[in-house]
Amino acid sequence: MHFETLAIHAGQAPDPAYGAVMTPIYQTSTFAFRGVGAPGPFDYSRSGNPTRKALEDCLAALEGGSHGFAFATGMAASATVLALFNQGDHLIIHDDLYGGTYRLLTSVVAAKGVSVDFVNLRDLDALRAALRPNTRAVWTETPTNPLMNLLDLAAIAAIARAHGALTICDNTFLSPYFQRPLALGVDIVVHSTTKYINGHSDVVGGAAIVNDAALAERVGFYQNALGTCAGPQDCFLVLRGVKTLPLRMEAHHRNALALAEWLEAHPKVAQVLHPWLPSHPQHALARRQMTGGGGTFSFRVRGGQEDVFRLLSAVRLFTLAESLGGVESLIEHPWTMTHVSMPEEVRRAVGITEELVRISVGIEHLDDLRDDLAQAFQQV
Ligand SMILES: *Cc1c(COP(=O)(O)O)cnc(C)c1O
Repeated sequence: MHFETLAIHAGQAPDPAYGAVMTPIYQTSTFAFRGVGAPGPFDYSRSGNPTRKALEDCLAALEGGSHGFAFATGMAASATVLALFNQGDHLIIHDDLYGGTYRLLTSVVAAKGVSVDFVNLRDLDALRAALRPNTRAVWTETPTNPLMNLLDLAAIAAIARAHGALTICDNTFLSPYFQRPLALGVDIVVHSTTKYINGHSDVVGGAAIVNDAALAERVGFYQNALGTCAGPQDCFLVLRGVKTLPLRMEAHHRNALALAEWLEAHPKVAQVLHPWLPSHPQHALARRQMTGGGGTFSFRVRGGQEDVFRLLSAVRLFTLAESLGGVESLIEHPWTMTHVSMPEEVRRAVGITEELVRISVGIEHLDDLRDDLAQAFQQV
C-alpha cells in the first residue's frame, strides 16, 4: 500500500472491544490474565500497550521496517539504542549532529566505557580510516542541524556493513515521507517524533525502527528493561498527528522551498542553506537520497549579530523559539539558542556563526510568511 494509506491504516483496525474506528487510549498500567498462567496479548504497559503497539506498527510500516518502538522522547529512543553497546565497543559518530545526542554520547555513553569517535562522515575515507576491529556502529544524522549538510547513507551503510558494524540514522529532519534510510542499508532509524511525525508541537516523543527480527528483539529488550517507552496518551496524539504527515510534509516542503528561493534573491541575505536549492553543494545527493527538502533550513544575514537580533525581534508571525517540525512557523538563532552549549571555537569551525538564522517553516499561507519576513528585513 502507499505511504498515505499506511499513515492512516497501518497498525490500526477497528478496536475489537466496541469497534472504535480510532485506536482508543488504553490508559491502564496492567491487564487481566485470562486464567492462571495465561496472560492475554498484553500484561503490563511498560512491556506493551495496545495504543503504543498501534503507533509502533504504523511507524514501522512508514519506514519500511519490520518492528517499531515508541519512546517517551527522542533522547529516550537514542539512549535505548545506545544501550546495545558495551564497555570496549567503539562507535563512530558524525561530527555534526543534534546537541542532545552529542551530550548523551560524550557525557553518558563515553563515561560508561564505550569509546566514541567523532568523524566528518561526508568524507568516506575518513570513515574507513576510523574503523577499528571493535567498531560496532556508525551513527548518522542527515540533513544536519542547522547547516543542512548531507551524508551519503547508502555509501556509509555499505562500508559499515562490510566491517560488520551497524549503521544508525536519526531521520528526524525529513521523516520517512522524504527519506527512508532502511531502504538504503541503514539498520536502525531513530526519530524525535516531537518534530514532524507528531507535527503539532504538543508532545515530546521518540521512535526506533528496525528491519531485522534479532535486532528488534534486542531493542525491545532494552525498551522494557530501561522503561523508556512512551505513554498511551502521547502515543494516541502521535498516531493522530501521523495521519496527516504526507499532507503536512508536502506543505512544509512547498513553503520552505519558496521562502528559500525568495531569501536567496534578497539583498540582505548572504547565503541560503537548503538541500533542494541547486546552489547547495550536495544538491545531487539530495536528489538521489531524498524525495523532498523538508521544512527546516538556515540562511546567513548580511551584517552582524545586531542585524540578526533586529530581524528576530521584528517578526510577528514567526515565533522566536527552539524546536521544529510543527504546523506553526518558528525562527531561531543557533549561535545564542539551540547551539549555545557547543564550544564557541567548534561552532565557528563548522560554520555556525552569529549571522546564521534557522527557520522551521510551518504550513500557514506562503504569502503571509513571506510578508512577515519582508517587513522584518526592513528593520535590518
Ligand atoms: C529534537 C531532536 C532530538 C531529540 O528529541 P527530543 O524529543 O527532544 O528528546 C534528536 N534528534 C534530532 C535531530 C532532533 O531534532
